[in-house]
Amino acid sequence: MIRFSDIKVVLYKRELLSYNIAKRIVEATKKSGIPLSEYTCEEDLGSQLEIIQKNNLSSKEVLILKEFHGRKFQKCPGSNNVICCNYYLLNTCFNCLYDCTYCFLNSYLNSYGIVQFVNLDELSDSINEFSKNYHNIVRVGTGEFTDSLMFDEITGIAHDLIEKTCSNKKIFLEFKTKSANIDHLLDIKDKGHTVLAWTLNTPENIKLYEHGAATLKERLDAAVLAQKAGYFTAFHFDPIIRSKNFIDDYIDVMDEMAQRLNPEKILWISLGCFRHSPGFKDIIKHKFPYERLTTEEMFPGIDGKMRYITSERIKIFKTFYQRLHLYFPKTFIYLCMEDSFVWKEVFGIDYNASEELENDLSQHLKSFVNCN
Ligand code: SF4
Repeated sequence: MIRFSDIKVVLYKRELLSYNIAKRIVEATKKSGIPLSEYTCEEDLGSQLEIIQKNNLSSKEVLILKEFHGRKFQKCPGSNNVICCNYYLLNTCFNCLYDCTYCFLNSYLNSYGIVQFVNLDELSDSINEFSKNYHNIVRVGTGEFTDSLMFDEITGIAHDLIEKTCSNKKIFLEFKTKSANIDHLLDIKDKGHTVLAWTLNTPENIKLYEHGAATLKERLDAAVLAQKAGYFTAFHFDPIIRSKNFIDDYIDVMDEMAQRLNPEKILWISLGCFRHSPGFKDIIKHKFPYERLTTEEMFPGIDGKMRYITSERIKIFKTFYQRLHLYFPKTFIYLCMEDSFVWKEVFGIDYNASEELENDLSQHLKSFVNCN
């Protein structure tokens, strides 16, 4: 698994040291002996990055500390014409240590480096304030443009957020990861409704497509530890990737989850088949010339994204649901970005709008937590 110590250079601006996150990263950088470079303005940063790029450092080896002046807390934009779960996002970082072949970040061809935002002190206030007038449970997470925990032991973002939101029972804070970096979170006393979540795949797919991330065993080991420490957990089978015997391989993963995890501590599991925007295939063919992901036949869906044919997705989701529901009968299992027709075929549920899924998920969480 790739870690913070694998970064080759950290760039920062002196003024940023007034932020805790910047201070922690700069201290850790000095301690690990990673070269640290100061920039004075955007222009200077640009020139330094040009030189670094010429020295053949990859985008994933360069960490840039910056302030972020855009929206840090927002509703997940989802996709047109599909049922979404109305999740909320915290924009804490752009880019990732890991290098998944299917990652949509590959589409951002002009971006270079992992950009860690450091002016995040008021994030918890934004969520707490928002939850006051919100009619449902607020599910919110940091892992949209990055991996939530890839070097969280250095930034301390999860720790700060948990500490400042744990007394608010309307908030379910989710940290979604493909790492096993949770040791620094285990001793937190009041965990509130924090959910540590893992994206899972078959060992074969992890090896082929999730470069630098933790192995399946490392992820499940971490999930077991998290549950024992008192955390709620969640899992995401997304993307489910078709290949020879893939169903059997995924069933092995589910069997292993059932053997090792406490079902009472799994709040939700989401399912999503591999999908991509129309131009994606051309973009990744240069970076991953031997990938086999996009060689399957794909068809445009109602949101314009390319997907496996509907009948095949329904078959896959039904198989996953049957097995997961058998093992984890109290866990809320849902589809990520699928249309009403697929929902009806897989679960027999007639959702016409995303709010209906959100309401069901909220009700489920309220009763799940009351029962535990
Ligand atoms: S872990 Fe997530 S954000 Fe990171 S490269 Fe993989 S898909 Fe992208």
